Amino acid sequence: MRLQNKVVLITGAGSGIGKSTALLFAKEGASVIVNDLNCQSGNETVQEIHEQNGIASFIHADVTDAHSVQSMVEEAIGQYNRIDVLFNNAGISGVGKLHEIELEAWDKTINVNINGVMLPSKYVLPYMMEQQSGSIINMSSCIAEMGLANRASYSTTKGAILALTKSMQVDYAAYNIRINAILPGTIFTPFVESYLKTSYNNPEEAIEKIKSRQLSGELGKPEDVAYAALFLASDESRFMMGSPLYIDGGVVFG
Ligand code: NAD
Repeated sequence: MRLQNKVVLITGAGSGIGKSTALLFAKEGASVIVNDLNCQSGNETVQEIHEQNGIASFIHADVTDAHSVQSMVEEAIGQYNRIDVLFNNAGISGVGKLHEIELEAWDKTINVNINGVMLPSKYVLPYMMEQQSGSIINMSSCIAEMGLANRASYSTTKGAILALTKSMQVDYAAYNIRINAILPGTIFTPFVESYLKTSYNNPEEAIEKIKSRQLSGELGKPEDVAYAALFLASDESRFMMGSPLYIDGGVVFG
């Protein structure tokens, strides 16, 4: 098993990519700390892991709240004594052109998608530094490098995550901590479903348009990203440091 004896913390693991990754990591032998804002869905992920005879526990925290995140990390250390892998996955969407966007909506996207990566990292890093090992996986998006209409706030956050990843890597390489980013294309999850419903009159047509922008001709599945996260979490990726990993079905401008 590729994550035998590893302790992993995954934020936003009650749904979509985070949930799929939690299930896969548990199958690969990891003890999985499932975090989410939503207690019900987070506990459901844990229950599914237990049903497949894996090890997992749920810790509720809002990744934008420093006190909440610090308590989560302390509770996780209290339970498992170490954290080998942190997957900063939790995130929300953000739509609208700049001149129309509500400032509260802008702030929320920036807060969840940037501080939601910074805070868990800030509180986990001292433990990884003491262990002299660790892998942190930051969730970016291929949108960071594309100009897509109506996505200024979301694109800004995912671009920032690439810069943060490289900067963190430089600061913590000496502690044998690797920090990499994943850049998914369009992965069919509740996040994308709700984005399509709220942004398009005809979501089916929008899906076809998105598919036509991908060389694969199809949308990704949460497992496609989970396998990439597994590689970054395991020692197999030991020579990847501060790198972006694209899981986007060959997305092209269309
Ligand atoms: P999702 O909505 O299915 O899951 C996100 C989870 O994060 C939810 O369970 C939600 O409750 C949780 N969450 C939200 N805010 C939180 C907070 N403040 N504290 C703790 N948990 C919180 O979304 P998904 O599609 O699985 O996306 C996961 C990540 O992947 C996001 O960062 C997203 O930006 C990124 N991403 C997704 C796609 C895609 O096409 N689905 C593409 C690129 C990047």
